[in-house]
Amino acid sequence: MAAGGTSQHDDVEAVRAEARHFYATQWDPDRTVADWYDTLVRSGWGYPAWPIAWSGRGLSPRAARAARDERRATGALGPPSGIGPTLLAPMLFAHGTPEQTGRFIEAMTLGNQTFAQMLSEPDAGSDLAGVRTRAENDGDEWVITGSKIWTSNAGSVDYGMLLARTNWDVPKHAGLTFFLIHRDQPGVEVRPLRQMTGDAKFNQVFFDNARVPAADVLGDVDEGWAVTRTFLAHEKNSYNPDAHEGGPFGKVIGDMAAGAFIEHLKRQTTTSAQGRGIGSVLADLVAQFDQGDDPLVRQALARLHTTRQTMTFTNQRVKASRSGSGGASPAAPAPGVEAAGSKLTVSALTRAQRDLGLAVQGPYGMLTGDDAPAGTFQYFALSTPALSIAGGTDEIQRNHLGERVLGLPSEPSPERTVPFKDLPASAAAATRPGDPK
Ligand SMILES: Cc1cc2nc3c(=O)[nH]c(=O)nc-3n(C[C@H](O)[C@H](O)[C@H](O)COP(=O)(O)OP(=O)(O)OC[C@H]3O[C@@H](n4cnc5c(N)ncnc54)[C@H](O)[C@@H]3O)c2cc1C
Repeated sequence: MAAGGTSQHDDVEAVRAEARHFYATQWDPDRTVADWYDTLVRSGWGYPAWPIAWSGRGLSPRAARAARDERRATGALGPPSGIGPTLLAPMLFAHGTPEQTGRFIEAMTLGNQTFAQMLSEPDAGSDLAGVRTRAENDGDEWVITGSKIWTSNAGSVDYGMLLARTNWDVPKHAGLTFFLIHRDQPGVEVRPLRQMTGDAKFNQVFFDNARVPAADVLGDVDEGWAVTRTFLAHEKNSYNPDAHEGGPFGKVIGDMAAGAFIEHLKRQTTTSAQGRGIGSVLADLVAQFDQGDDPLVRQALARLHTTRQTMTFTNQRVKASRSGSGGASPAAPAPGVEAAGSKLTVSALTRAQRDLGLAVQGPYGMLTGDDAPAGTFQYFALSTPALSIAGGTDEIQRNHLGERVLGLPSEPSPERTVPFKDLPASAAAATRPGDPK
């Protein structure tokens, strides 16, 4: 697994030259995908910001971006993306055993395994530490019973990143464990939930005596909240368009909706928006409806632009302040509270784009599909509520900022000291079979 080569943290031009040579000599569109992924993994060029020991090159984010630009310039296929490399990998680097990290990193980087987040429950979303899915030890295995909801892509993935309760006698944050559970097994049932976009990317997942080998516990038993905190910090940051590949707003709809959005863009072969960010779709609509001289529209566009630019500068400042520890690379410490600010801004920007785009279209904004001036935009408009909820709601981000930046007092709560089994259960939870009394 370990890639060759030395760590070149900051010599961006040397990295650029080496990457250019690599892609010029290695990339060939006639190679099979599996063969190409293998080359990327073994060379370290697939995920150059990752540690050298784990298929990376230990590059600074700036140098890694230069390498990525060289890849794009040659048109070479990129490495597998998605939740595995963006969210699970940093968790493995921080909490995994060497055996576990090697096993999952190899499978995800070769494109052999995909992952879903199995965290939220019907009564535990913002209050994630209140999950009631139960894990009981049975020799070398754990037995899982309970239910998760809003699980994006659960029907198609290989593994779930699962948070479950292993100890009911301690306060709620103390009795949780993080598991990597194989989805395709007896005892795991996935039921799709249909969204107003028409997609059914969401699911409810039911566990009835499903099994997880002890080797697939991530972090220590009963210490799952520490692992979850790492996850949440990286997840929040994943909504930051400056932290990822793709043009402005390319990532804004979150993992589930972004995947659907991109698929949708591909289907919209007749629109001029094909393959472009929603910002340029909006620009097209303004031109199409001849609104470019309207002072209110111009003002709204200017506000969008300046907010976006300001966010980029803030993100650059944050990255610079973290550069001492490897910057924003997945192997560096998890992003801090600044990610809450970026997520709130992205969420507000998305709503502003939606409102402006619909206003520009007037009554045509009510149409959909082929009748709509830009079907892509209508799909985007229906997807926007997701952004204020997924990865932690706007209110929760504001709580973070209030407590950790402004120093406001946190809400008084007995939950940090009372054993979980003694906490008053909600009416819904109290009637669910299998819950502890
Ligand atoms: C597009 C999308 C994709 C998702 N994908 C996944 C996934 O793959 N896996 C997964 O596990 N989950 C996923 N989720 C679920 C998501 O994480 C939760 O919906 C979210 O954390 C909110 O939890 P909840 O729905 O239980 O709402 P609740 O927590 O019940 O919140 C309801 C309302 O109360 C407010 N509120 C709650 N607590 C507070 C507080 N302390 N202070 C102020 N206001 C508060 C909230 O802001 C919200 O407005 C996804 C959600 C979306 C929209």
